[in-house]
Amino acid sequence: MQFVVGMDKAFSNKAGIALEKMKKAGVTSVETYVLWKDIEGAGEGRFDFSLFDEDLAALREKSLKWVPFLVIGPWYSTPDWFLGSEKSVPSVCLEHNKQGGNQSIWSPFLKDQVKRTLKAFLDHYKGETEIESVLVGISGDYGEAIQTVYGNWPGEYHGHRGYWAGDPYAVESFRGFLLYHYDSLKNINYSWGTHYSWEEVRPFMPTLSSAPSRKALLDFYQWYKESMTSWADWWLTQLDNWPWDVYLVTGGNDEPEHASSFAEQCRVAANHKRGIRITNEASDYALNFMLTRLVSTASRKYGSYFSTEPASSVNEKGEIGRVYNAYSSGARAFHEYFYNVFQDLEGNEKPNLHSLPSSVLSRKGDEKPVVSVGLVASQNTRILDGSFGEEELNVSKKIRELTDFDLLNEDLLSNGGIDYRFLIFAFPFMAPENILSKLVAWIQGGGTAIIAYPPKNLDGDSSTFKSLLGIEGEVFGVSEVKPLTRLGTQGVTSKAYKVSGDAELHAVMSYKESETKAVVWSRRIEGGNVLAVSSAPSNRIFINALKECLYGSLIGVEPLQKPYEPIPIEGIYPAATEDHLVLYNSTDNQVKIKIKTGEVVLKPNSISIY
Ligand SMILES: [Zn+2]
Repeated sequence: MQFVVGMDKAFSNKAGIALEKMKKAGVTSVETYVLWKDIEGAGEGRFDFSLFDEDLAALREKSLKWVPFLVIGPWYSTPDWFLGSEKSVPSVCLEHNKQGGNQSIWSPFLKDQVKRTLKAFLDHYKGETEIESVLVGISGDYGEAIQTVYGNWPGEYHGHRGYWAGDPYAVESFRGFLLYHYDSLKNINYSWGTHYSWEEVRPFMPTLSSAPSRKALLDFYQWYKESMTSWADWWLTQLDNWPWDVYLVTGGNDEPEHASSFAEQCRVAANHKRGIRITNEASDYALNFMLTRLVSTASRKYGSYFSTEPASSVNEKGEIGRVYNAYSSGARAFHEYFYNVFQDLEGNEKPNLHSLPSSVLSRKGDEKPVVSVGLVASQNTRILDGSFGEEELNVSKKIRELTDFDLLNEDLLSNGGIDYRFLIFAFPFMAPENILSKLVAWIQGGGTAIIAYPPKNLDGDSSTFKSLLGIEGEVFGVSEVKPLTRLGTQGVTSKAYKVSGDAELHAVMSYKESETKAVVWSRRIEGGNVLAVSSAPSNRIFINALKECLYGSLIGVEPLQKPYEPIPIEGIYPAATEDHLVLYNSTDNQVKIKIKTGEVVLKPNSISIY
C-alpha cells in the first residue's frame, strides 16, 4: 500500500532528518499542496515550478516519492491577478445572496484556467517517475469535491455551511437541467404545482418550508449534486492521459448541503480508471468507518480505488483504528500528517507510532474485503426527514461489532446489482419507486431484508413494504416496544399493528416479559425473506434479532460463518477479506476469542491478521 505523509511545501532545506525517519518507517511518499498561485502567481502564463523542483530533488535523494495535491478553484489557491479579473466568478450563497471566495463550479471561465494550468504541470513533469500519484482539488474551501462549508482562514471571505448556488451561471445551469428533464416550462409548473415564468425559475432555499413543492425540492438536490459530479467528471477527463495514479479529493460526510455524492464521484472516477481520496477521519474508529465506508463500497462496486486522510489531528489510539480501517476496507493508499505519526507540533516524538502503519500497510498483496451485509442509509431521508445523528451512529457501531458491512444509498442501489445476502434497514429510508421495486425483486430472488423501518416512496408511502411484512397501520419503528399479542403462524393480531388480510406471519422472537408477545417476525417472500423487528434499532432486541438472523437459524436461511466466538464483543471489530480474517481490538484490555484455528489473544489496541 502507498503510505503517504503530508508536509508543508518548501521543506527541502529543513527536512533531512524527518525524511530519513519516514523512509525508515516505511513511508513511500510525501504529499505537498501545489496551489494554482504557487506556480502561476507572477501573472498569466508565467509558470514557475522551482519551489517544487527543490523538494522533489530532496525526496529523490532519500528514495521517497512525491504526491502533489493540485488545487485550482478554491479561494486560497487562486492567484491575485485572476481574483481581480473580470473572469473571476465567486460562488454565491442562497442564504444571503452574497459572494463567497471560492470560484463557482458553473463559471464558464474557470475551465480554460484549469486546462492551462494542468497542461503546464504535465509539460514540466511528464517524464517524472518519482511522482507516486497526483491528487486534484477541484472545489470547496480546501479543494474537496464539495461546496463551501466554513471558509478557508475563516473571515477572509464570506463562508458558511449552506447552499452555494446563487451566481448567474448556477441559475442558468439549474434552468438547463429542468428543461432537459421536463422539456418545457409548462411541464415544470405542472410537476411543481407552480405558475412560474422562466424568470422566476431559479435555485431556492431547499427546505420543505421554502421550496415551491416537495418535487421541486428533490429536483434542486438532484441538480446540485449532479453539478458537482459533472464538474469532477470534466476534471478527470482533462487528466485521462496523465501517467500517474490520480485521486479526486473529496471530504465531509456526504451531506446534501455539500453537493457531494461519494458514490457518484467513485463511479465517474472508475469510468476514468482513477481513484478517490476521502478526507474526513478523526480518532474514533466507528465514526471513521461510517465516514469512509460509502467510498470503500462504491470503489469496490465500480472499480475505482481510494485512499483515506484525516481532517485534522488524530490521537495514538485513533491512529491504530485508522490503519485498521484503511487496511480492512481495501484502500490503495493511507495518508497521515507528519505531526500525527512522527512528531507533534511541540516537537515531541511519537515512537509508538513510527512502525505501526508500515507493519500493517507494507504487507504483501492487496486485501479484498468480502462483505455479505449491506446497511441502507438514505440521502433523500436526510433531505426530507432530518439528519443522521448520534443515535444512528451508535446503532451502526453496534452492528459493526457484529459484522463488517457495506453502506448503501439511493445512488448505489439504482446504479447496479445488489450483491449482498442481507440488507439492513435500521434507519428511515425513502426512495423512488424504481429503487423500491429493485429491492423487492432482490428479496424475491433470495435476499433477506432485516427491517426496523419499512422503506417508503418519496411521497412517504410505505405500503409496498408493509404489505411484504404483512401489516397495516402506522406505529412501526417507534422507540417503545409494541408487541404483537398472539404467537403463531397465522392470525396474529395486535394492539399496535393490524395484520393485513390473511397474511401468514412467523413470530420468531418474543418480548422477554411475555412469551405470548412477538416483536420479531418473518415472512417468506418467494425465494427470499423479510424479518421485521418492531422495536427501535437502539433497543437490544434489534441487535439480538440481527445476530440470530445473521449467525443463527432464526428464519431458516444459511447463516454467515461466525468470525469468532463469542460474538459480538464491545469494541472488537471483525472484517473478512479474500485471504484473511482481520481483527481490531479497540479496547484497553486483552481479549481472548475462539477463531477457526483455535483460541487467540487480542492485545489491547491492536490489529491482528489471521
Ligand atoms: Zn451567506
